[in-house]
Amino acid sequence: MIHREITYPEQKTNLLKQDTESLYQELIQILSSWTPPTDLSFIERAFKTAKYAHGDQKRESGEPYINHLLRTAIELTKMNIDINTVAASLLHDIIEDTRLTEKDIMKDFGNEVAFLVAGVTKVDKIKYQGIERDTENIKKMILATAQDLRVLFIKLLDRLDNLRDIEHLKEDRQKRIALETLEIYAPLAFRLGMNKLGGLLEDFSFPVIYPQEYIWLTNEIKDKYEDRIHYLENIVPPLEKQLTEHGVDDFQIEFRAKRYYSLYQKLLRYSMNMDKIYDLVALRIIVPTIEQCYLVLGIVHQIWKLFPHGFDDYIALPKPNGYQSVHTTVFAEEGKILEVQIRTQEMHERAEKGIAAHWTYSETKKSLAYRGNKPITFPKELKWMAQLQKWQEEFSSSTDFLESLKIDFF
Ligand code: MN
Repeated sequence: MIHREITYPEQKTNLLKQDTESLYQELIQILSSWTPPTDLSFIERAFKTAKYAHGDQKRESGEPYINHLLRTAIELTKMNIDINTVAASLLHDIIEDTRLTEKDIMKDFGNEVAFLVAGVTKVDKIKYQGIERDTENIKKMILATAQDLRVLFIKLLDRLDNLRDIEHLKEDRQKRIALETLEIYAPLAFRLGMNKLGGLLEDFSFPVIYPQEYIWLTNEIKDKYEDRIHYLENIVPPLEKQLTEHGVDDFQIEFRAKRYYSLYQKLLRYSMNMDKIYDLVALRIIVPTIEQCYLVLGIVHQIWKLFPHGFDDYIALPKPNGYQSVHTTVFAEEGKILEVQIRTQEMHERAEKGIAAHWTYSETKKSLAYRGNKPITFPKELKWMAQLQKWQEEFSSSTDFLESLKIDFF
């Protein structure tokens, strides 16, 4: 099976255009695809409770408040967490913004949901002023307050949605939220290996903090992305032919356009010289096994000459947050410099979802074909807490941890 795909930096408008009913339907639709089937009436009850409790509260944009809760729940549901976390995400602003209390939630939805909602409420109280030098301390405080990784997941997706409609807030609030995201929440997401989410948090904050730079950058790369993809479309068919001739016939090729903020950061290191950026659009090859990763690497090196110092083996030597892939930079057709990333499907899933994907794998011990909710046959919450504790310990023991993560995933 050969499959090709182009990934551009995601735009934030997608979910914003929907009304309450269609958002709710989307949530139910994703939940319906979970295996084994999950209790949809539980989520319906959480939705109705949130809708009733928030009443006619509105977002600054004027849309009903419940839409924010639904969007947060939708994104969380895509991560295949458990049903209690989805319910908690719908209820996450209840204690803070309505008359209902933690006890009410406990009574109607059980201890676990109440614990998660209370956790989000506590984390919300940790305020970043934009002047603290030691952002590490705030990250640690957030981890300690969260107690359970799922609290952090809800908080991160809550933040993502708050960035979607941030332009309706007053300017100083916009800046505070975006800065806090760049300094605290995006690094936390990367810390947990959730590179896709971290990238989105950065890309949505970027125009708020650096508006001029954002406009410059997006104008600058518009044509460059297109040129590059056109170029890749021409060189991929012969590559595909080589792969199949060498017995690799089950692979997926992606053209990954670099994320805006990540590109901006890299440009700062290269005197804003776009010609120095070789991975503006990288070629990503995804195969079923590790053996095939190295086979593909060999084939790539046979076709194209290796660029000096252009090779990194993060399969043999994973990044501290678990990231695995082989990266190689080569002189491709017409002597153009090209970055190729090679990984298995499992590594790919983990590179995007981080710890959430790890959870799916370790619990189901099945391939990705198995997507969905895990039956509650074990003390799950204990595992989540233990996991968080483990991360916290690693976190405090390596001061340069975040520095070491600053490689160009995206
Ligand atoms: Mn919220």
